[in-house]
Amino acid sequence: MLNDKVKHELITIVGADNVQDSKASLLVYSYDATPQFQSMPDAVVAPRNTDEVAEVLKLCNEHHIPVVPRGSGTNLSAGTTPVEGGIVLLFKHMQDIIEIDEENLTVTVQPGLITLDLINAVEAKGLFYPPDPSSMKISTMGGNLNENSGGLRGLKYGVTRDYVMGLEVVLPNGDIIHTGGKLAKDVAGYDLTRLFVGSEGTLGVITEATLKLVPMPETKKTILALYEDIEAAAEAVSSIIAHRIIPTTLEFLDQPTLKVVEEYAQIGLPTDIEAVLLIEQDGPQEVVDRDIEKIAALCRDNQAIRVDVAKSELEADALRTARRTALSALARLKPTTILEDATVPRSKIAEMVRAINDIAREYKVDICTFGHAGDGNLHPTCLTDVRNKEEIHRVEQAFEAIFHQAVELGGTITGEHGVGAMKSPYLHLKLGDEGIAAMKGIKQAFDPNNIMNPGKMFAKSERKRVVVHA
Ligand SMILES: Cc1cc2nc3c(=O)[nH]c(=O)nc-3n(C[C@H](O)[C@H](O)[C@H](O)COP(=O)(O)OP(=O)(O)OC[C@H]3O[C@@H](n4cnc5c(N)ncnc54)[C@H](O)[C@@H]3O)c2cc1C
Repeated sequence: MLNDKVKHELITIVGADNVQDSKASLLVYSYDATPQFQSMPDAVVAPRNTDEVAEVLKLCNEHHIPVVPRGSGTNLSAGTTPVEGGIVLLFKHMQDIIEIDEENLTVTVQPGLITLDLINAVEAKGLFYPPDPSSMKISTMGGNLNENSGGLRGLKYGVTRDYVMGLEVVLPNGDIIHTGGKLAKDVAGYDLTRLFVGSEGTLGVITEATLKLVPMPETKKTILALYEDIEAAAEAVSSIIAHRIIPTTLEFLDQPTLKVVEEYAQIGLPTDIEAVLLIEQDGPQEVVDRDIEKIAALCRDNQAIRVDVAKSELEADALRTARRTALSALARLKPTTILEDATVPRSKIAEMVRAINDIAREYKVDICTFGHAGDGNLHPTCLTDVRNKEEIHRVEQAFEAIFHQAVELGGTITGEHGVGAMKSPYLHLKLGDEGIAAMKGIKQAFDPNNIMNPGKMFAKSERKRVVVHA
């Protein structure tokens, strides 16, 4: 608990303007983008630099006060809900691009930087930072790093982890460590960089990151393949990959998602078909032309009723933007939108889509599906109402069945949204008790007082969503 003495010490470290504890500000930070989770913090603290982060952590460690690092709160796994109270740590004063190094092709950033600001800044120099989560207009690099976020370009270019070369991290005891760096090769000791990426704020606070950049691809082309059979679309995904073509983007939207997205974006998407694949390839012109031609042929072989090539970059951009709005568009339909991200090997996409539809029918719930099909990363999204307890119970049963199915097909309970508080009760499905014990050992070594984002990753008890303590 945060007593007056600790509050005074926090003010001494970061200044009075950077410690908030009014009821209104605590309420604002009591939830994130995840439905059904809410819990009040005791204070909201915004350090101005790494040294202040270190001082804050040292103080909290001494007094066993939970620390919840928070970027923009767009995570979908209750990763920033302060389920055990304590302080929410903001990075609004740490949003800089420290350096773009054009010789080593790296960029060094602070955690509060908005993802799209980074992408735009490096593109202005003819360089490319591929990870592009759909939330990139608002998500921060601290959030991307800690969730190991993916995006539309993940199939060809990988996810955030694949671009992280070095980190500055403040450990719970206030020690500041540096992992990796600008080196293309570095095997000195354990790979702590990889350990911190995707650690969901449970091991320490990332205060700086050095990221790899690649040259901008010469050109790109986008196509839309239309299907009257949802499973044929899923088969086409497997077929493209099996023919050894790796597009930049291979996204899937089912009919309910298409309808809602078109209503919202109004760009002339077809809404009378069962599914579409949005496919993009980039690279040298001749490679792009050749691949797009082959991809179009494979889509037709797999029962596409039409394949349209975007006529201009403007049209292609409208298609990409429409896909990125899928969640926001769906969220307008019902009071509660629950989006999951069960993931399977690419070859199992058709089977997984079929299973999701069967499960939705069995539990009588509305599930729309879209997602990064090329990554096997689907987003079955349930439109529901949290006030309808009976329906919510069925929704939870349906999602549990979906997680079981994904793991049975060799997949996982989350491909990019993280475990947080929301999926912690299901982590054992993927890791088993021994896997969880190994991870708990790592957590204990870094954070023996369990101050870093407690209540996340490891389940205390069975699934419990609405947690409010004011
Ligand atoms: C509309 C929408 C679309 C989305 N699309 C995608 C998508 O395409 N791909 C995808 O992967 N995700 C997506 N997401 C999920 C989410 O946007 C990502 O997980 C994103 O990386 C979170 O960034 P954030 O700044 O909001 O982080 P937050 O939600 O604030 O935090 C995320 C996690 O990072 C930790 N954290 C934040 N900063 C630090 C730090 N400096 N040090 C230590 N821990 C820290 C937090 O404690 C928390 O565990 C989407 C979400 C929405 C709402």
